[in-house]
Amino acid sequence: MTIFQKIIDREIPADIVYEDEEVCAFRDINPQAPVHILIIPKKRLPSVSQMAGADETLVGKLFYRAARIAEKEKLDDYRLVVNNGVGAGQTVFHLHVHLLGGRAFGWPPG
Ligand code: 5GP
Repeated sequence: MTIFQKIIDREIPADIVYEDEEVCAFRDINPQAPVHILIIPKKRLPSVSQMAGADETLVGKLFYRAARIAEKEKLDDYRLVVNNGVGAGQTVFHLHVHLLGGRAFGWPPG
């Protein structure tokens, strides 16, 4: 079981900013920007590369919800990041979208 599953199950605390039947969003414990929120499906889905075709709509909802949360946080410009695999920086194997905002971002990313 991942740490994010424990957050969904309320086994460990988190600053949850949004929740519905399929999606949960909470503030990152180690923020990399003034706003750093993680948007996750409640379904156990380890990574983007392990999505099935049937998960398309669900994963779309993560991006839709990220945009709504960004509005609520009064962010005009923000970055959405999904790390896929250890080499890309993924550390928690429960699919999540990072919503980062409140500062300038460089490109290419590190
Ligand atoms: P990844 O590196 O897998 O893309 O992102 C995992 C993120 O989860 C990291 O930004 C990390 O700070 C965050 N994180 C890890 N453990 C916890 C936790 O227990 N609570 C919260 N809120 N965030 C966590």
